[in-house]
Amino acid sequence: MRVYLDNAATTPLDPAVIEVMTDIMQNHYGNPSAIHGQGREVRTIIEEARKTVARLVNVTPSEIFFTSGGTEADNMAIRCSVADLDVKRIISSPIEHHAVLYTAQELANAGKVKLEMVKLGLDGHVDLEDLEKLLSNSKDKTLVTLMHANNEIGNLLDLDLVGAMCEKYGALFHSDTVQTMAHYRFDLQKTHVDFLAASAHKFNGPKGVGFIYISNRNKLKPMFTGGSQERNMRSGTENVYGIAGLAKAFQISHDQMDEKTALISGLKNYMRERLTTEIPGVRFNGDINGNNLYTVLSVSFPPSKVSDMMLFKMDIEGISASGGSACSSGTDIGSHVMSALKSDTTRANVRFSFGKFNTKEEIDFAIEILKEMHSETVAQ
Ligand code: PLP
Repeated sequence: MRVYLDNAATTPLDPAVIEVMTDIMQNHYGNPSAIHGQGREVRTIIEEARKTVARLVNVTPSEIFFTSGGTEADNMAIRCSVADLDVKRIISSPIEHHAVLYTAQELANAGKVKLEMVKLGLDGHVDLEDLEKLLSNSKDKTLVTLMHANNEIGNLLDLDLVGAMCEKYGALFHSDTVQTMAHYRFDLQKTHVDFLAASAHKFNGPKGVGFIYISNRNKLKPMFTGGSQERNMRSGTENVYGIAGLAKAFQISHDQMDEKTALISGLKNYMRERLTTEIPGVRFNGDINGNNLYTVLSVSFPPSKVSDMMLFKMDIEGISASGGSACSSGTDIGSHVMSALKSDTTRANVRFSFGKFNTKEEIDFAIEILKEMHSETVAQ
């Protein structure tokens, strides 16, 4: 048996998405920029996909641009707002994804912006009072870039609140919504945000495709030059099957939102309960009882002889999950999130993340393995 509990890293494709993509691969190969019928047919596929995405987040299609994924969308939002919107200061947090963190750091190292990090609370949430203090203490044009949900510990940011705060102080707001887009409903007429980044492979769509939402308030210049695709914002022949697959996966996620949320949160809670009662000393990272992503359970296992090898051992036993340990060995650079949260380096942190194809039986299987590993440890 093989149990996949790493859905925050990527998700398996929905069969209906494969069907749509396969049909395009087999039957619709025209270049969407070509003026002939076969090109126009493919152009329509892309524009229909854009309309689907726009409708589901309640924006106009002209505010959606397809990219190669979340990393490119994050880079575009940050780099282009510094280049084109006179941004002189970036406010971010130490637990952002590297697509955001390294980009902001590079711009700061190049002297293009001042980078300020907002404080985090003990539970890993952004300290909103500190954010307001930072926003109020400078007149420099500011970009706030804070993720909607942290991919390691699952903490959720209140986008409405931060959006309103940014609006009040005239700051631009970018949020990495890679872990939340298609897992929650968005209404961007109600949430004040300038840029959002999303990635299809996190919601049962294909890898290598995503989108950026750019509010019509902001006019950016393209990051790439070339054939002027995506209304000149993203040159390069479009990933047509990827884009169609993204839109299909997005639509399915919305259609299944309520059942999917109930199923996945049920699995997460079940695993949490069993771990708590059956493995002594287990703790959970992040704001587990509060505003937390329903797909992620970040577990801190008590110190043991297998601590350093837990992921490896789990893999051998048939469980796929991810690490998230603070750096403790020279070969493993560890997790910057766990380090920022000053996680106890003697404990092993494992991120289990759930998807709509997981079952209770799979969780039972994983628990038995984890219990066995733990009892071995105690006996040693
Ligand atoms: N941002 C977050 C929060 C992520 O979890 C990921 C994926 O791991 C990314 C950005 C990068 O997305 P992509 O793999 O589509 O480039």
